[in-house]
Amino acid sequence: MFSARKWSGVFRAARLHHFRSHSVSRASPNLTFVPACLPPDPVEVEELQRFVSSSKRLFVMTGAGISTESGIPDYRSEGVGLYARTDRRPVQHAEFIRSASARQRYWARNFVGWPQFSSHQPNKAHLVLRDWEKLGKLHWLVTQNVDALHTKAGSQRMTELHGCTHRVFCLACGDRILRSELQEHFEALNPAWKAEALDVAPDGDVFLTDEQVRSFQVPACQKCGGILKPDVTFFGDTVSQEKVSFVHQRLAESDSMLVAGSSMQVYSGYRFALAAREKKLPIAVLNIGPTRLDHFASLKLNSRCGELLPLIVCT
Ligand SMILES: [Zn+2]
Repeated sequence: MFSARKWSGVFRAARLHHFRSHSVSRASPNLTFVPACLPPDPVEVEELQRFVSSSKRLFVMTGAGISTESGIPDYRSEGVGLYARTDRRPVQHAEFIRSASARQRYWARNFVGWPQFSSHQPNKAHLVLRDWEKLGKLHWLVTQNVDALHTKAGSQRMTELHGCTHRVFCLACGDRILRSELQEHFEALNPAWKAEALDVAPDGDVFLTDEQVRSFQVPACQKCGGILKPDVTFFGDTVSQEKVSFVHQRLAESDSMLVAGSSMQVYSGYRFALAAREKKLPIAVLNIGPTRLDHFASLKLNSRCGELLPLIVCT
C-alpha cells in the first residue's frame, strides 16, 4: 500500500516548485483551486489500474476535489480551499429555517453567484466516471457535491448525497422547481438590484455586505406562499434515512470502493467508507492531501482526479 506519510513527504517537497509553475499549467483545465501536486507516478497509475481491473462492481464516492478542476473551489484544501482563503462559512440549516434575514442573505448571495456557478462544466474526471458507468464497471456513484457536474456529464447510476443546488423546493407544500426558473423570479422582483460576483463558493455562495443584502426581495412559493429552500443538505442538517439506506444497499451490491476528490471529513459520506471497511471491500482513495481513510485504505493516491483517472484503461 502507498502510505499517506510517504506521499505527504513527496507532496511537501513538490509544493514550492509547483506553485512557481502554477500559472503555466493553469491554461487548461482551470487549476486555480486545485492544490499543488506531482503528476501521477507510473507506479500509482499501475496500482490504480490493477485496482480498477480487478473490480467488477465499483462503488465510487466523489467530493469537492473532483470539481476543483472545473474551477469550483472546495472548502478544505490547504492554501486554495475556501476555508484557507477566507473566513466565509456555509449557511447553517437551523439558521436558514428560523431566520428570514438569513434566508434573504443566502438567496441574495446565491442569486449573484448563480450565473457563474451554474455555468461550470464537467472535467475529464466526471467524463471518465460517466464512461465507466456505460461500460458496466461502475455500479453506483455517490457524490457529496451539489454542483450538478456529474449530471451534466451524463451519469445516471448516481445519488447526490447532499442534494443539488439546481433544484429548489417549498418547505410547506413540497413543490419543486428548477433553480434556473427561480432566477427569473428573482430578476422580476429585483429589477434595479445589482451586485457583483467575486469568489463563488462550492455551493454558489458569494460575499455581499449587509447593506447590499437588505433591499433584496425573496420570492415565496408560487403555489402556497411557503418558504423556498434549495434541495441541498445544509451544514447542521442530516441526510434522510431513506437515502442513507438506499446508498448502503448499492454499496452492499458492490465489490470495491473508490473515493475520488474527498478528504471524507464529513460523516455523512465517511460512514459508507466505514461500511466498506466492515465488509472488507478493497478501498482506493484518490485525493490531494490526507483523508480520514488513509490508515485503512488499500491504496492512497495523491493526484489530480482529472489527470489520473483518464489514464486508467477500463474494459
Ligand atoms: Zn409551497
